[in-house]
Amino acid sequence: MKLVSFDSGRIGIVIDGRVVDVSDLASVEPGSWPPVGMVRFVADFPSLRPLLQEAIRTRASRALEEVPLEAPVQWPNKIIAFPANYHAHIDEMKQGAGSGVISKFKASGQGFFLKANSSLSGPADSIVLPPLAGREIHHECELGIVIGKRGRGIAPEDSRDYVFGFTCLLDMVVRGKEERVMRKSYDTFCPTGPWITTADEIDDFDNISMRLFVNGEERQSAVTRDLIVSIPDMLAMASAVMTLEPGDIIATGTPAGVGPVKEGDVVEIVIDGVGSMKLPVTRGTVGDHPVWNEDKTGLAV
Ligand code: MN
Repeated sequence: MKLVSFDSGRIGIVIDGRVVDVSDLASVEPGSWPPVGMVRFVADFPSLRPLLQEAIRTRASRALEEVPLEAPVQWPNKIIAFPANYHAHIDEMKQGAGSGVISKFKASGQGFFLKANSSLSGPADSIVLPPLAGREIHHECELGIVIGKRGRGIAPEDSRDYVFGFTCLLDMVVRGKEERVMRKSYDTFCPTGPWITTADEIDDFDNISMRLFVNGEERQSAVTRDLIVSIPDMLAMASAVMTLEPGDIIATGTPAGVGPVKEGDVVEIVIDGVGSMKLPVTRGTVGDHPVWNEDKTGLAV
């Protein structure tokens, strides 16, 4: 099943290019704040499923292209992100650093970080670059995992029970030596969508292929089999530290091929069996600050 958020917090099921509105079944009030409807919907999904199947059979629908899509999960409890989770990407970052400062840095030994929930944007939104002179802002193509039920201390072999589904995710970042959370948390720096594909549609979590294109040219390509920390181990590591909640998002890490984007570019992410989306890149007017101009020479990262 493919689930969308649309039209100020409505929830829909995408079927054959059309959207069936099921907001009422989940007691979701469109337009209410905070927009937590999808979080509740995910938590209640097992009990809602028969009603959803009936809704697909009996309800009127709208054409997908006429529906204003939003970030599928708009107000999660947290976004957990795994850095340095493909070997080839670690190699290219080492070359960029020039000094081996991150040579010991990989997700299996370093763990994860958090990205601000407010950086989430959706499939109809632009990526808005802050006006930072001389800074590169990079795309990172990633598979997003949506957590389905609460859990702490999840064993890798039980992890599949906690995966609700998958979504396309871009982990946008200002390259530099400032705190990573700040560099990765500008508004629109976490595009997700176009929907959540539920986990039952994905046979093999280790064989999910993804590609990223900038202006039609392929820049990144990967398959989850090459992850350093696998999907089961990501859930185990994250839930060793914190309680995972329905609607939580895990950004699984980017493969090699990251690079800068600029105003006017179009970034496309394609994940086989999950979905795809094309996002324009624009330049905003807000976002500069003297912190970006401080001399960080010699600062360890
Ligand atoms: Mn990343």
